[in-house]
Amino acid sequence: MAIERTLSIVKPDAVGKRVIGKILSRFEDNDLQVVAAKLVHLSKVQAEQFYAVHSERPFYNDLVNFMISGPVMIQVIEGDNAITKNRDLMGATNPSEAAAGTIRADFASSIDENAVHGSDAAETAEQEIAFFFKPEEICEYTR
Ligand code: ADP
Ligand code: MG
Repeated sequence: MAIERTLSIVKPDAVGKRVIGKILSRFEDNDLQVVAAKLVHLSKVQAEQFYAVHSERPFYNDLVNFMISGPVMIQVIEGDNAITKNRDLMGATNPSEAAAGTIRADFASSIDENAVHGSDAAETAEQEIAFFFKPEEICEYTR
């Protein structure tokens, strides 16, 4: 399997519940390494641009407003098969459909406030990482 990088966001609901550490532990406990991270309060323009792919969806405005309702913790995580592995750890978009033991099953309360974002493919991972991080902000580790 290839070493990949993916973008993960702990959304405002989970930051507010003070479970940043528990969520990042899920990554670390599953051999995914945090290689860049920052806590930020997104601007409306940033949230609109980040979720532009959903701009025609009925939930777009609610999604943008939720994402700017408080700080978010944004990280690049790296490891074998990181993109799919992160999606598996996250669980389904709707927490009521998320498998037991996944981040969304354990920490999310609704499809609107579902605790985490994770890139869904190699191309989006690259775009989303570049949206938030300069190359020099991403750390290299000796594994
Ligand atoms: P995911 O975050 O699992 O990749 P999507 O990319 O489909 O899911 O949607 C992006 C985000 O938009 C979701 O995480 C969720 O916060 C919100 N969302 C998606 N579908 C709905 C919906 N039907 N109603 C409300 N919010 C939604
Ligand atoms: Mg998505």
